Order: sequence, then structure tokens, then C-alpha cells
Amino acid sequence: MAVNQSELSRRRFLQTSALGAVGSGFLTSAHAKSDKKTKIDTTKILNYNPEMKYRPVGNTGVYLSVISMGGLLIDESVHHYAIDHGVNFVHISKKYKGGSSIRTLSKVMKTKRDHVYIAMKDNFDDIDKMLKLLHTDHFDFIMFNRHNHKDVNDPRILERFEKYKKQGKVRFMGLTSHKDVKACMRAGIESGNYQLLMPVLNQPALESMTEEIRLAHQKGIGVMGMKTMKGIKKPALQMAYLKKLLQNPAVTTVTKGINSFEVFDQYFKAMQEELSFGEDISLYKYAQSNRANNCMMCSECEGVCPHDLEISTMLRSKDYYYEEIGDKELAVNTLRNISRERLDTQFCRDCHECEAACPNGIHIVERLEKTHRLFDSYLV
Ligand code: SF4
Ligand code: SF4
Repeated sequence: MAVNQSELSRRRFLQTSALGAVGSGFLTSAHAKSDKKTKIDTTKILNYNPEMKYRPVGNTGVYLSVISMGGLLIDESVHHYAIDHGVNFVHISKKYKGGSSIRTLSKVMKTKRDHVYIAMKDNFDDIDKMLKLLHTDHFDFIMFNRHNHKDVNDPRILERFEKYKKQGKVRFMGLTSHKDVKACMRAGIESGNYQLLMPVLNQPALESMTEEIRLAHQKGIGVMGMKTMKGIKKPALQMAYLKKLLQNPAVTTVTKGINSFEVFDQYFKAMQEELSFGEDISLYKYAQSNRANNCMMCSECEGVCPHDLEISTMLRSKDYYYEEIGDKELAVNTLRNISRERLDTQFCRDCHECEAACPNGIHIVERLEKTHRLFDSYLV
């Protein structure tokens, strides 16, 4: 039986909202207040600040602050400020901002290494150099970056991890993905190999992965939401969405590139508040009206493209890195990593198979054309 769009939208809302949670038994008000009710031995929490909230990463013994600092946008003083406010988790890749992000973090780690856990994207080739740069002898989490669920449990990953773990250079294994995200996370959860997942968790992704996140929590796997505000422009709605994410006990921490004191203060305040019914309704309405603008990196489009184009990476480069974050260099560098054949849209105008497959109804072809108009001169 055909189901119309408004009925689908209503069901999605009920599945993911506080209202629906009452029915599903998942996001209950008791869960929403779980941070207050659960007794935690605060002496075990690194860099504890009573005004910050912390959540455990399964049975690792690690408690992470619910706000964590990403490395895409980074400012030395703001990182210090955040850590002084109880943040105890930072994420970095040597590739962010052409390497300048990790050099900035290096300055912070000179005095703050003992205050935080570090999650490093898998840069095994020069792990010793990266450890030295960050003034440490180990990374707490190594985040393997995999874009196809078939690669998530490649035995070579485990071998590499075990090798460095034996040498004391890494502690726990994490998984991140920018494509095929839901299936990658599912494969990571089912393998039992990973202690921390880092999925894209913007509005449509949260709707789509409610079950995976619940399952991760059930199995004692931490969830570190990234690109959570992707597609939300208004600060008030962003703060409402932060509350919504944290209302879910399965979300361990929200990682965000924060390079201004004001923005950190907004996050810190919102983290202490509960999502109101009005905010939840506003988020729902926004999610529905914004659906066709918000890619969730599911890769459904790429699965049907006869030319095997890297659609979601192209959209991410333009929509997120360039237009939302304002990092042209990152957008260009990300596009440069795509082979010429997988970037070339000259054949693609008539088929529109990708648009038919996209669950969000994104006007992909139009966006790809815009990506080319913006960046072609940088890609020769
Ligand atoms: S319209 Fe272009 S990008 Fe979309 S499926 Fe067809 S060839 Fe691929
Ligand atoms: S464009 Fe649509 S189908 Fe493609 S990754 Fe984004 S949300 Fe998924």
C-alpha cells in the first residue's frame, strides 16, 4: 500500500521525537534526566567540572564530556577555555586545514595533555611523529575512517590496532565514516571490535540511525556524533538540536569544531538545559522543510549512479566545507582526492537515477553542477 509523504513524515517524527519516544519506550523523560539520576564516581572523571555532563564509553572506564572539541575549526584560546570548563575530549586529524589544526592542538597539548582524551583519525603511517607533535606517548582512541561497510572489519585494521596497542601507543578503537554511514556503523557494532563510533548525526541521519544508535548503547559502545549541526543555520535551532541529541542517552558526546568563546558558551548553556516541547516541534518542522537540503551521507545515490560518481563527497565539499564552515581549502583538497573519472559530471544530466534513490529528495544534479562551477578551476 502506498504511503504518502506527510504520513511518512509524521511517522518519522513520532519515531524520533519526545512524543514518539513515550510510545517506543526509548527516549523517556527518565532517560532525558539520566545524567542527573545516575550516580557517577566523579573522581574517575578526567578534568571533572560539576557543571559539565559526562557519559561513560561502555566498559572502558572512560567518561567523556558530552561536548567535545572537533579539529576542523580550532582556536588555541578557545580550546584552553573549553578544557578549563570541563571538556575532556578532543578530536583531530593531521589533514584538517592542511595540517594547521594539529599544529594548533599541539600548542594546547603542551600544557593540557593530561586534561583530555585524544581521538586521532587513523594516521598510522606516521604515528610516532603525531604522538610527538601532541606531546604524548599514546592516543586514547584511533578512529578508523571507512567508507564502505565491507571494509569496516578488514582484518588488517585489527592487526594494525593490536600492534600499536601492544606498543602502548593506542588504547581504544573507533570507527568513523563519511559514506555508507549507517551500514558502516551497523557493521562496526556487530563486529564487537569498536569501542567508539563517530557517525554523521545531523537531523536526517539521527532519524535514519535511531536503531543503530540504540544498539550501540545496548552493546556498550560509545557514540560520538559529528557534523551534527550540518544543515541547521539558526543558532537557536542548533542549540535545540544539541539538547535533542543529548536527550538520547545513547549519544555519548557531540563533537564540534568551536573557534569562538561565544559559541562555546552557547553550547555549554544549552548542554545544561532540557529540550522543551516547543523546541522539539520546531526541530521537527525544520527537519521536514529542510530535508531536500540536508545530505546525510548515506550513499544511496552512489549505489545507483551508472558513472560511479562520488556524489556525496562532492556535495559535502560544497554544501558543508565551503558553504557552511567556510573552509574553501578543505573543500578543494577533499575534491582533489577524488579521481578525475569519479568527479566528472559531463555525462550525468539525463539520468537522474541518483535523485530517484535519494531518501531526502535532494536535487543532486543541480548541486553537482554548482560544485563544478565553483571548483573546476582549482581541480585542473
Ligand atoms: S544524474 Fe549524474 S550523478 Fe546522478 S546517477 Fe545519473 S550520472 Fe550519476
Ligand atoms: S545525496 Fe541523498 S542519497 Fe546521496 S548521500 Fe546524500 S542523502 Fe544519501
